[in-house]
Amino acid sequence: MNQKKFFSRNKPHLNVGTIGHVDHGKTTLTAAITRYLAEDNLAEFKDYTQIDSIPEEKERGITITAAHVEYETANKHFAHIDCPGHQHYIKNMITGAAQMDAAILVVSLTDGVQEQTREHVILAKEIGIPTVILYFNKIDLLADLSLVELVEWETRELLGQYGLGEDCLSEAGSARVALSEDFATKTKNGLESIERLTKLLDDLPVPTREKDKPFLMPIEGVFSISGRGTVVTGRIEQGQINLNESVEILGFNNDIKTTCIGIEMFHKELEHAEAGENVGLLLRGIKRDGVSRGQVISAVKSIKATSSFFAKIYILKKSEGGRHKPFYGDYKPQFFIRTADITGSFQFTQDMESVMPGDNAEVSINLISPVALNEGLRFTIREGRITVGTGLVTKLA
Ligand code: GDP
Ligand code: MG
Repeated sequence: MNQKKFFSRNKPHLNVGTIGHVDHGKTTLTAAITRYLAEDNLAEFKDYTQIDSIPEEKERGITITAAHVEYETANKHFAHIDCPGHQHYIKNMITGAAQMDAAILVVSLTDGVQEQTREHVILAKEIGIPTVILYFNKIDLLADLSLVELVEWETRELLGQYGLGEDCLSEAGSARVALSEDFATKTKNGLESIERLTKLLDDLPVPTREKDKPFLMPIEGVFSISGRGTVVTGRIEQGQINLNESVEILGFNNDIKTTCIGIEMFHKELEHAEAGENVGLLLRGIKRDGVSRGQVISAVKSIKATSSFFAKIYILKKSEGGRHKPFYGDYKPQFFIRTADITGSFQFTQDMESVMPGDNAEVSINLISPVALNEGLRFTIREGRITVGTGLVTKLA
């Protein structure tokens, strides 16, 4: 095998993906990117059918269909996701299978912004994709090039509407031409447009590391240590904590401020801990029953406990281990949100009567008690031990 290994641990890694309306050229563009980079041994060329005919795999019980393509630019390493159809995008973005630090929004110059363009932009905003790059495709089909400006204006207006930055970077070209033309006679709208696009990818900001975000740890366990006080345990989700820092405990109508007066990891006393670490935190002046699993401990004023929110949900099919029957407005399952396990109910939008297994839906949810929530947070819906769905918090009520 003369397969070149191009995975580089020295380059910062980013997850990207193509989004946009069906037939606008997402898969063709993905293939074109690998073709262009393969010339410099920075990727393995994947042709259209290799990307589009990916087998299904199970992730957390859910059937996921998405192509993961890997490539490098001069300074970055990428995992690129491309989904076969609109429903796959919705499902993968709700469940978190499609993680993206940046999205390449593909817009066909012959069609402009379409319904799924808008839906994907909204989802990109909701899951918190920080950067969008635009690729205006199918320029080879345009007789009148003034359309480029028009479609660009329309797309930027859409992005601005959802707070995704009207000033994002863009390229125009033809993915199909880039996929078929010779390298020796490459053209501005063909391979050169892909070259410019990969430069934009190369310049993408490296995502903020989890440890640079405000401190947050979901509480898993609570212990009373005689002579010392109450210790909460868990894995730090984001941020860092220093000894003697003020923190808040949030959730279940029992929000309290306290100070972290001890940090312990593997029976060692520490001055500092950060994202990814499993720790025990000793809290000043808190009784054993003053705090419980399911609450979070966080940097002061960084997050709020809320009981009502809007969400996009995906309900598992029977074949994914989910329900066999639809549910209606009176359904009251358990919501697993970080370490919290809490009952809640759905409020459907006017035109909805039920949600079928395999469906995704937009709903509002009321929990019987508040928990710490943020937009972009994912959660699981369960009935007893069965996972029946997953959801994404899109807006706090
Ligand atoms: P997707 O649904 O967004 O993944 O779109 P595809 O990549 O499957 O492309 C849809 C159709 O548009 C296919 O027939 C492509 O060959 C065609 N196509 C993609 N890019 C271009 C392009 O730049 N120019 C032209 N003329 N056709 C294109
Ligand atoms: Mg496609």
